[in-house]
Amino acid sequence: MAEFFIEISAQDNGDHLIHKSDCSLLPAKEAIYYLGSISSISSAAKKAGERFARPTGCSQCSPG
Ligand SMILES: [Zn+2]
Repeated sequence: MAEFFIEISAQDNGDHLIHKSDCSLLPAKEAIYYLGSISSISSAAKKAGERFARPTGCSQCSPG
């Protein structure tokens, strides 16, 4: 399990990046939404999809 967060603001292309809690690219806590302790990036993306239109794994911490 890992703790996953998603960026509240979208990237220029509309994607909302998902990060693990230890990612060096994780924004300040005011700019992220806690998704929970989740087993995989695919499960985290599915959960994020309930709230954000285009969740995408961060290329550094959550590729694929
Ligand atoms: Zn990341």
